[in-house]
Amino acid sequence: MPAFPTFPKAAREATGNAQLRHNLRKATGTIRGKRAAVVAELDDWAELRRAGKQIKERTLRHLDTYLEQVEAAVIAAGGTVHWAADAAEANRIVTDLVRATGERDVIKVKSMATQEIGLNEALAEAGITAYETDLAELIVQLGDDRPSHILVPAIHRNRSEVREIFRDRMGEWGRPAPDDLTDEPADLAAAARRHLRERFLSSKVAISGANFLVAETGTAVVVESEGNGRMCLTLPETLISVVGIEKIVPTWADLEVFLQLLPRSSTGERMNPYTSTWTGTTAADGAGDGPGTFHLVLLDNGRTDTLADTVGRQALRCIRCSACLNVCPVYERAGGHAYGSVYPGPIGAILTPQLRGTADPLDASLPYASSLCGACYEVCPVAIDIPEVLVHLRERVVQGDAEHPRAKGHLAERVAMRAARTLLDSPRLLGAAQRAGIATRRLHPGRLPGPGAAWTDTRDLPQFPDESFRDWWARRSAAGEGAPAAPAAPARPTPEAGQTPEAGNAPASGDTPSTTPTSAPEERK
Ligand code: SF4
Repeated sequence: MPAFPTFPKAAREATGNAQLRHNLRKATGTIRGKRAAVVAELDDWAELRRAGKQIKERTLRHLDTYLEQVEAAVIAAGGTVHWAADAAEANRIVTDLVRATGERDVIKVKSMATQEIGLNEALAEAGITAYETDLAELIVQLGDDRPSHILVPAIHRNRSEVREIFRDRMGEWGRPAPDDLTDEPADLAAAARRHLRERFLSSKVAISGANFLVAETGTAVVVESEGNGRMCLTLPETLISVVGIEKIVPTWADLEVFLQLLPRSSTGERMNPYTSTWTGTTAADGAGDGPGTFHLVLLDNGRTDTLADTVGRQALRCIRCSACLNVCPVYERAGGHAYGSVYPGPIGAILTPQLRGTADPLDASLPYASSLCGACYEVCPVAIDIPEVLVHLRERVVQGDAEHPRAKGHLAERVAMRAARTLLDSPRLLGAAQRAGIATRRLHPGRLPGPGAAWTDTRDLPQFPDESFRDWWARRSAAGEGAPAAPAAPARPTPEAGQTPEAGNAPASGDTPSTTPTSAPEERK
């Protein structure tokens, strides 16, 4: 993994980029509005959401059974199944499979799993060029850039930036952009279509991920908006699909739920323009609906460890709709690159530290990349309680455990917490510290020095009072004053003259509510 700065550092730089903030605000605001409108159309959205959550939960509980079911069904349909424990193994498997075809070029369907394992880079090292075919991924690839959104990887780019990238770089990767290319969306799409068409027609190997794997038939499913995925999945002779083990749904009836939840949550559409499914291979007699050769690479890469965490495992329910990114105030200002992770935004803040661990300072900073406002939970179509997992992971970062060593970056916080615990455990020490603080209060600086400065950069340091509460209480008690009287309770409003309670609301005689319990608590048990 290349070294990226921690989230606070990267976010500070990103939030200073006014163009980036403008692009993000415009794009996420548009998608947010579309999503809200189409979700409001469904009276049973809450039930669908509950169903999606429960199907995923049940599947994760019996994942071992469903994985074996998928494997058996894919093999029965003529495909080959490979198991990859981590990114290195997955990359090795895919590289060997491509080499075996004798090809040096492959086309790709947009896939988060292949980004997660750094497949393009691994293939490049082996002398194989991977061509992205999704429009946004193409923009990212041509611009030597990194994706910054799950659904719209080039969300940080505006139209004129895209035109410049197409004009400057398209020729190096294939058919060049026309000289008179404008920044009109239709022109940009037409240039991309002509560029990609040549690639589709000449490629013999395609690599994809899958949005879902239907266990009962071993069917892989890809949903997309542009049709480029459909071309990759149907034209080449060999298809290699790298799929995370959490992508399974048990049956086609279960899939039905997600095909309603996903498009409304991600693109604000009622259904996906393209839904492609394939099962194993197409036999010589034409039976079957898969490619000539099909390889399924089932990817773990930290998912089994995530599954073992009873709080954190809910992140594996994610269907990568990106709704949580589009409502997140932190993402909207900092953008996706600040997360230094393939999965940005709220889902990245909980998934990445679980898949990669929290020992690296960047990964340890991700659970803090949130205001815990809860907007992400509200929109998540599978009801992942992202704030709950964030807090859980913050605890892991501070405390550490055998599996997840503590991050070094929070040493100062740990030292401060330990000192506070010692003080609060001892009334004598606490009293002495308070008196010392009060005696020296005129010397206190307005800002904390050293690592504490990060805290006072955005907050005022509270002033010590003239006297601690304990001393104040002791002094008053010694003088026989005790506690000051409690403020008088506000008088209960009485009906104005001539007003009587409405007949229907008037308590019946003898039912007058009383604040005095009619019996002792023990008797009422
Ligand atoms: S966490 Fe929920 S809202 Fe966010 S991408 Fe995953 S499914 Fe969508």
